[in-house]
Amino acid sequence: MSTEPLVDFDEVLTRYEPLIGLETHVELGTASKMFCGCSTVFGAEPNTQTCPVCLGLPGALPVANEAAIEATIRIGLALGCRIATWCRFARKNYFYPDIPKGFQTSQYDEPLCTAGHLDVEVDGEIYRVEIERVHLEEDTGKNLHVGGSTGRIHGADHSLIDYNRAGIPLVEIVTRPIPGAGAKAPEVARAYVTELREIVLALGVSEVRMEQGNLRSDVNVSLAPIGSLDWGTRSETKNVNSLRSVERSVRFEMRRQAAVLDGGGRVVQETRHFHEDSGSTSSGRSKEEATDYRYFPEPDLVPIAPDEDWVAKLAADQPELPVARRVRLQEEWGLSGTEMAWLVNAGALGLVSETVAAGASPADARKWWLGELARRANDAGVELTELAVTPAQVAELAGLVSAGTINDQLARQALDGVLAGEGDPAAVVESRGLAVMGESDELLAAVDAAIEGNPDVADKVRGGKVQAIGALVGAVMKTTRGKADAATVKRMLEERLT
Ligand SMILES: [Zn+2]
Repeated sequence: MSTEPLVDFDEVLTRYEPLIGLETHVELGTASKMFCGCSTVFGAEPNTQTCPVCLGLPGALPVANEAAIEATIRIGLALGCRIATWCRFARKNYFYPDIPKGFQTSQYDEPLCTAGHLDVEVDGEIYRVEIERVHLEEDTGKNLHVGGSTGRIHGADHSLIDYNRAGIPLVEIVTRPIPGAGAKAPEVARAYVTELREIVLALGVSEVRMEQGNLRSDVNVSLAPIGSLDWGTRSETKNVNSLRSVERSVRFEMRRQAAVLDGGGRVVQETRHFHEDSGSTSSGRSKEEATDYRYFPEPDLVPIAPDEDWVAKLAADQPELPVARRVRLQEEWGLSGTEMAWLVNAGALGLVSETVAAGASPADARKWWLGELARRANDAGVELTELAVTPAQVAELAGLVSAGTINDQLARQALDGVLAGEGDPAAVVESRGLAVMGESDELLAAVDAAIEGNPDVADKVRGGKVQAIGALVGAVMKTTRGKADAATVKRMLEERLT
């Protein structure tokens, strides 16, 4: 828990303007590592996916992974970047146990992609995020600190290192500082990472599972007194690995830095850790300057010189990007901008799209995901995607309703069964006996029973008080436990009473 003083968020905005910036690392989904042939499969036994190259043993020579270079160029193209015609890797020298070579092979002053941008929408406003660079590097190994309560090195008995991750290709996407977001700065940061994640998913170059650390952002925040443009020192909150945490970390840093500045203090240039439980950040190490890393061009690797025709072909082969997809779907489904924004903000766009692809009408797909299913996800405190029902099953459910096999109420009972793992909707309808009753002898008996049981009401209907029939319909629905079709029941009652 943080014991640092904080200023109320709304109050921060009365005196300061925030400046944010993000450095996002995306672990690519290539089959092999960046500079060797080792496997990149997640979750293997520690240190089983290593070789002399990724362990940095003397004499081992790296070779760059072409698929990783291609993926980086495709990310750069999607962000409207200029693609370098010639660039090099560089050694970033620092000594850390998880970096066996004593340096990280990265890119420094010659990145593969530069000068792009990404537009993000928050509450109907577009914010342009300028992209400074997209470069390629390798991931580090993973430290495991054992014996402490926090999982950090302080207080631990000993530390273990797993080098399976060392050398996995990593793309770093660096924004320019984003001014002018004001009170929306936390949401803009989140919207940017969300959109970036969508793009990487659409390109199919990474699974971007944030919980596995496939995508993690370093979040930079600094404040300037309003009107001064004199940006103070920035803090860098490292490895924030959920969309919600990106937003929270910006919010927390704005509140913390305002308190420091209000007290006449100075914000220290440092890296900070984000704490998921409390939503706070705490001081890490003081931030190194670029000169501390003694960058120099990597002598063991040839320069990257992407052929112009190859880049042109990659550009021509790009899949439909999220923004274009949203525009297309909005038009196909006949939605307003606000309706589309709801769908996107609810995290339901992909699910609705898959449900439509599985045969449901767009209206039905939206109704289910934004209605009944959103309510259930909310009650269970999970994301829509975590519900134990697939888009295909939702489409099947909607199909059973429109075919008249079940009504909305029965469909909700069928959904109970699907979520309980009883099988697909049609199977649940069968096993739970949920199908709507047709015009059968059984239903006719229920109709007669309702008339006999409510003679006064029946007399009123016979006497011309047509609206009284509702009570009889209700009685039939009750005896059939909602399985009858109300319109059919009403018609049968009318036939009996007139
Ligand atoms: Zn290796």
